[in-house]
Amino acid sequence: MKIKADYTNTPTWKDLTVKSNLPEQLKCLDEIAHNMWWVWNYEARDLFRDLDPELYHEVKHNPVMLLERLSFARKEEVLKDKELMKRIKSVYNQFRKYMDVKPDAKRPSVAYFCMEYGMHSALKIYSGGLGMLAGDYVKEASDSNVDMCAVGFLYRFGYFTQSLSMDGQQVANYESQNFGSLPIERQLDKDGNPMVVDVPYTNYQVHAYVWRVNVGRVKLYLLDTDNEMNSDFDKPITHSLYGGDWENRLKQEILLGIGGMLLLKKLGIKKDIYHCNEGHAALCNLQRLCDYIEEGLTFNQALELVRASGLYTVHTPVPAGHDYFEEGLFGKYMGGYPQKLGISWDEFIGMGRTNPDDHSEKFCMSTFACNTCQEVNGVSKLHGWVSQKMFAPIWNGYFPEENHVGYVTNGVHFPTWAATEWRKVYAKYFDKKFMSDQSNEEIWHGIYNCPDEEVWETRMALKKKLFDYIQKQFRETWLKNQGDPSRVVTLLNSMNPNALVIGFCRRFATYKRAHLLFTDLERLSKIVNDPEHPVMFLFAGKAHPADGAGQGLIKMIYEISQRPEFLGKIIFLEDYDFLLARRLVSGVDIWMNTPTRPLEASGTSGEKAEMNGVVNLSVKDGWWLEGYREGAGWALTEKRTYQTQGYQDQLDAATIYGLLENEIIPLYYNKNEQGISEGWVKVIKNSIAQIAPHYTMKRQLDDYYDRFYTKQAMRFKALAKDDNRLAKEIAQWKETVAERWDAIHVVAADWNFPAGGGEAGSKYTLRYVIDEQGLDDAVALEKVNLCTDKDGEERIFSIEPLKLVGKEGNNYTFEATLKPQQAGQYKSAVRMYPKNTNLPHRQDFCYVKWLELPAFNN
Ligand SMILES: *Cc1c(COP(=O)(O)O)cnc(C)c1O
Repeated sequence: MKIKADYTNTPTWKDLTVKSNLPEQLKCLDEIAHNMWWVWNYEARDLFRDLDPELYHEVKHNPVMLLERLSFARKEEVLKDKELMKRIKSVYNQFRKYMDVKPDAKRPSVAYFCMEYGMHSALKIYSGGLGMLAGDYVKEASDSNVDMCAVGFLYRFGYFTQSLSMDGQQVANYESQNFGSLPIERQLDKDGNPMVVDVPYTNYQVHAYVWRVNVGRVKLYLLDTDNEMNSDFDKPITHSLYGGDWENRLKQEILLGIGGMLLLKKLGIKKDIYHCNEGHAALCNLQRLCDYIEEGLTFNQALELVRASGLYTVHTPVPAGHDYFEEGLFGKYMGGYPQKLGISWDEFIGMGRTNPDDHSEKFCMSTFACNTCQEVNGVSKLHGWVSQKMFAPIWNGYFPEENHVGYVTNGVHFPTWAATEWRKVYAKYFDKKFMSDQSNEEIWHGIYNCPDEEVWETRMALKKKLFDYIQKQFRETWLKNQGDPSRVVTLLNSMNPNALVIGFCRRFATYKRAHLLFTDLERLSKIVNDPEHPVMFLFAGKAHPADGAGQGLIKMIYEISQRPEFLGKIIFLEDYDFLLARRLVSGVDIWMNTPTRPLEASGTSGEKAEMNGVVNLSVKDGWWLEGYREGAGWALTEKRTYQTQGYQDQLDAATIYGLLENEIIPLYYNKNEQGISEGWVKVIKNSIAQIAPHYTMKRQLDDYYDRFYTKQAMRFKALAKDDNRLAKEIAQWKETVAERWDAIHVVAADWNFPAGGGEAGSKYTLRYVIDEQGLDDAVALEKVNLCTDKDGEERIFSIEPLKLVGKEGNNYTFEATLKPQQAGQYKSAVRMYPKNTNLPHRQDFCYVKWLELPAFNN
C-alpha cells in the first residue's frame, strides 16, 4: 500500500478570548475602550493615542486592541508618568459624569433597527452612507439622552476593504474580524452564560449570539449567527453586508426583524416606537403582529397597534435599493406565518404588493413596511416628494402630493465629524450652551467674531494633516499596490499644499457621476496645471463588488490620474472609510458632489464638510437643495435642461469648469498681504454660520420627535389604553365599513351648474344623498378639481369638501356651495371616503369611491 503523502484532519477552531492584564490604575481605560464614547470625545482619543502613538496607528485607532498589545514596559512607564495619569483620571471622570445621567423619561422611547451602523473604522459593520447615518443617530440619541436602543448585526467579514491593482481595478478584500479585539461586549443572560436568541426559520431554528456595543448611554445589540450551533447553511447569515444571494438576504431580514424582536423580548425591552431604518428591518412588524395575536387580539386589532407604533424611513429612490422576493422563496421561509396571523397566504403576501391581488408581483419589503407602519418618511425635502410619488401606487384614490409620506432631512453627528481644531475654535467663539443647543443658528453666528487669520490657519492645519495622512498611507500600503515606486515618489512630491484642493469622495454608483469632471480633459489639464493658481482633485470611494460600471469609473479615474499631466494633481485614494473620511471632510477646501437629479436622497458627507469650514460645490439635489445659501458655497441649478442624460452631463460639466475658472479659483487666490483670501474666509464663515447649524444630528433627532415619535407615541397610548379598547373599536369600525362599502351608494344627486359652462364668481349648489347602509355618519365627500400645469402635467387645483346637512334614516345629505374663482379648463369628480377622527390619516384606511358628478343643469 502506498503511504499517503499528506494526511491531516481539519482543525476545529474555537474562539478564545485572552484579556490583557491591565494594572488596577489603568483598568478604567478598558472601561472607556469598551464604550464608543471615545469616538466623539477627542480628549479620550488623544489619550489613547499618547499611550503609544506608533501602536495606535498600527491598530487603526482601536483602543481595545491598543490596550491588548500595550507592552509591559510601556504600562510601567505610563504608571510613572504623573501628567499622563492625571489625564487618565480626568478623562475617566468626564466619562463617568456623562454616563451617570439617566435617560429623559419625558420623551417617547424608541427601538431602532438597521442593517448597518458606522461608528468607527474599528467596527466594520457598515458600508457607507446608511450605516454612517445610523451610527451618528445612535450617538446623538446618547448625547440627547433619549431612551433608545438599537438592533443590528455583528458581521464576521463586514463590508470589504478596497485596494487597487496596478491597472486601477478595484480589489475587494474581506477580512475576518476577531470579535475579542473589538470595542464590544458579549451579552450574557441572567445566569452569566452567553445569551442566545433562537429564531424560527421554516421548520428549524437559527441560534444567534448577542453582542453589545455601548454607544455612550445607548445600547446597540448585534446578532451573530457565525457559531457552532448553526449549520454551514446558516452560519453565513451574518458573514457579510449586502453579499450573498436573495435567499441569504431574506434570511438576513428574518434575523434582523424577527430575530431582533425576539432579542428585545429576551432582554425584557419594550419601547414606544419601532423605527425601521430602511425596509430591511420591516419584518420586526411581523413578529410584533404575532406577539399581539398570541396575547389574544385579532389580526386587525393587532395591526392597529403595530402600525400606530411603527415608523419606516426610506433612503433611496433607486429601484436596486429595494428588496423584492419571489413568491416561491418567500413562501419557503414565511409559509407558516399566515396561520399564526389568522389570515390567508394571499392576504399575507399581498401586504408586500402594490396591488395585493396581482399574483405576478413579487413581495416587496418596502411595500410591507408601508403597510405595517403608520408613518413613512424620506430623508430630505426633495426625497420626501420623490418618495411620495414612488409609493403613491400603494394608495390608489389619492394623488402623490396628498399622501402622508413625509421627510426628515439627514444630519451628521457634530462631535464625531467636527475636527478637534474646529471644536476648539467653536468653543472659543460660541456661546457656552453650544453643545446642548447645536442646531441654534444664532450660536453659530459666533464664527463671525473669529479673526480671518484663525479661520485660515485652522483650514491650513487640517489640510496639512490630510496631506500627512495621504503621504503616510501611500508609503505604507498604497505604494505596494499602485506599483512603480518612482511614479509614486513623483506623485507625492508634486502634492502642493498651497493648491486649492477639491474632494470628490463617495460610493461609486454611476448616478453620482464621478466622470463628469473628465468630460473635457484639455480644459481640466489647464485648470490643474496653472502655475500661479494650482488646483488638485482627490477622489475616493468604493464600488459595490457587483457593480461593474462603478468599478469601471474607478479604473477610468485611476488611469487618467496616472497621465503625466495629472500625476499628483488628480489622486485616487484607496479604501474610503471612516478614518479617511474624517481627514477628507476636514482637510480639503471644497467638497464636490454631482449626482443625477433627483437620485441623491440626501447625502451626508457634504454636511460633514460644513462642520469643518469646507464649502460645498454641488448639484442642488438631496440636502444641498435645502442647504445652499448664496455666498456660502456653490450650486448647480436644480432644473433639468435636457432629457438626454449625455447632454445634461455636458452642460453640467461646462458649468463646473466655468464656475472654477471664473469664480472659485480667482476668489481662492485673491490673497491679501498676509496670504489670506478674505473673500474665501467670508464664504467659509457664511457656510459655518448659516448652513452647518441646520444639518446636525441633533436637529435630525429633534425632527423625528417633533414630526413622528411624539405624536405616534401619544396615539399608540390612546389605542392601547384600557386593554386596547380604542384599537379594538377602530378595527371593528373598519371591518364594518369594509363589509358595507360596496353597498354604500348614491340615492340622489343634483347641481345647477349650466351645461354650457359656469362663470367665475357665480354660485352653484352641489348635492348628494348617500345611503350609508346603517353606518352612522361614516363617510365624507369632497369635490376634487384638476388642472393642467404649464409642464403639461395634471395636478390638483383645489379640493372642495361637501357638508353634511341632513339625515333621514340611512340617507345622509351632503351639500356644497361652489363659487369658482378662476376661469379655465378643469376636470372634476367627487370622492367619497370613510371618515373617522381616530385615524391618523386617510391612507391608514384607504377606501375611496369616486362618484360621478350629476348631470348638468339644462
Ligand atoms: C459620510 C460617509 C458616507 C456617505 O456620504 P454621502 O455623501 O452620503 O455619499 C459614505 N462613506 C463614508 C465613509 C462616510 O463617512
